[in-house]
Amino acid sequence: MTTLPIYNPADGERIAQLPADDVTSVAAKAARARHAQPAWAALPLAERKACIARFRHGVVRDLESLAVTMTRETGKPIRMSRNELNGLLPRIDFFLGMVDPVIANETVFDEGGMTERIQHLPLGVVGNISAWNYPWFVGCNVIIPALLTGNAVLYKPSEYATMTGLETARLLHEAGVPEDVFTCLVGAGPVGAALLAQPIDGLFFTGSYATGARIAAGVASRFVRLQLELGGKDPTYVCEDADPQAAAESLADGAMYNTGQSCCSVERIYVHEKIHDAFVEAFVATVKGFKAGDPMSEETYIGAITRAPQLDVLDAQVADAVGKGAQLRTGGHRLPGPGNWYAATVLSHVDHRMELMKEESFGPVIGIQKVAGDEEAVRLMNDTRYGLTAGVYTPDPARAQALLAQVNAGSVYWNCCDRVSPRLPWSGYGDSGIGLTLSTYGIQSFTRPKAWHLRQPG
Ligand code: NAD
Repeated sequence: MTTLPIYNPADGERIAQLPADDVTSVAAKAARARHAQPAWAALPLAERKACIARFRHGVVRDLESLAVTMTRETGKPIRMSRNELNGLLPRIDFFLGMVDPVIANETVFDEGGMTERIQHLPLGVVGNISAWNYPWFVGCNVIIPALLTGNAVLYKPSEYATMTGLETARLLHEAGVPEDVFTCLVGAGPVGAALLAQPIDGLFFTGSYATGARIAAGVASRFVRLQLELGGKDPTYVCEDADPQAAAESLADGAMYNTGQSCCSVERIYVHEKIHDAFVEAFVATVKGFKAGDPMSEETYIGAITRAPQLDVLDAQVADAVGKGAQLRTGGHRLPGPGNWYAATVLSHVDHRMELMKEESFGPVIGIQKVAGDEEAVRLMNDTRYGLTAGVYTPDPARAQALLAQVNAGSVYWNCCDRVSPRLPWSGYGDSGIGLTLSTYGIQSFTRPKAWHLRQPG
């Protein structure tokens, strides 16, 4: 039988050897999902909502053990694992609260015996191929609205967060979602590829640009609903009227939280020359205060790097930047193992010739560039193929508004960063992806409209 080994990235120990899927089992699960979906869609919405409410109850009940599982397989510091699980609850509440109005039938015209109506139908069977960095968030952004709107879901969690994926399945099944309506597929890329080959009605992907591009090519001729939530190189500009200390503390957290392994981590910082030196000093001091170590410790802020190959990316970006004139302010090297560890790293005097300012780092590494003013800052913020988030720190709302209006990004932040709200759409420009999750639009994403033209006889 095929198996998938699970390693703890904090110490390199193998913690599980899971039975895994193959091409045959994926096809069988997809066929069962197809068979099961109509009955699930035919249930009254209140019954599907009741299942999701019971699922929420299970998450609350098991929160501590779910946090430990996530920390063991991803290296996420335990406090951040709890934060993610607690942050999931308002997302579930949002979906439960908004699904009724979003999928209710709409009568848009009713005159002279003619009625026009819009019905919101489920897509059918949808695939969800997901990332490991926030497995509860990115998984449930798809799973919960997809199930509520009557779809069956084939969920392929990341091979680096599979135990969490199986826990998601356990809690959903325990809450009353039929086993064939929500199915977890265990394995790495080839299992995701096997899922793509099935006759699915939608494919919702969270992960890297490279895999997203491959997936888009793979389904292109089939016209399935496709959403890609990909990486970013998220910039922030600190204006000269901002408080350098407060901005530095906020942005250090935005860059290093989750060990910098967030899609919306702050990845580039531009600082007005008038406060550049004060900002860098405060930023480095804040980062030096972040404790690295055992992810199970309550004190830990910098955890393990989940995927070992990312260490090479971080080493290469730092070497490239230093080779081109960047100043290393702290870190810049791996930390001793076992496991995958990288020191929180700050570089100043960086510029856009450097990979560090062009390609996603996805680790605790940040470049800070001095700029002469707003025009240069906007030009540099937009000098990217990505466009997930961007931010500005200034006390002046009009200036912030003017700057953020010029930036190409799915989400923009004023005096905050690294923030996601269930009430707002989560989307990206350019190579950060297509489609969206969250908000009422992120419920509608899992439906297709059917137009009814109804003429009364006579
Ligand atoms: P990844 O692209 O390596 O893997 C993502 C998923 O794709 C995994 O489940 C993997 O098994 C699967 N996969 C790999 N090859 C495949 C193939 N050929 N066919 C089908 N599936 C395949 O990404 P990752 O390392 O898991 O995640 C990190 C990336 O995700 C970062 O770039 C990050 O920015 C991005 N991300 C984006 C968001 C967002 O909302 N925009 C959220 C979280 C993470």
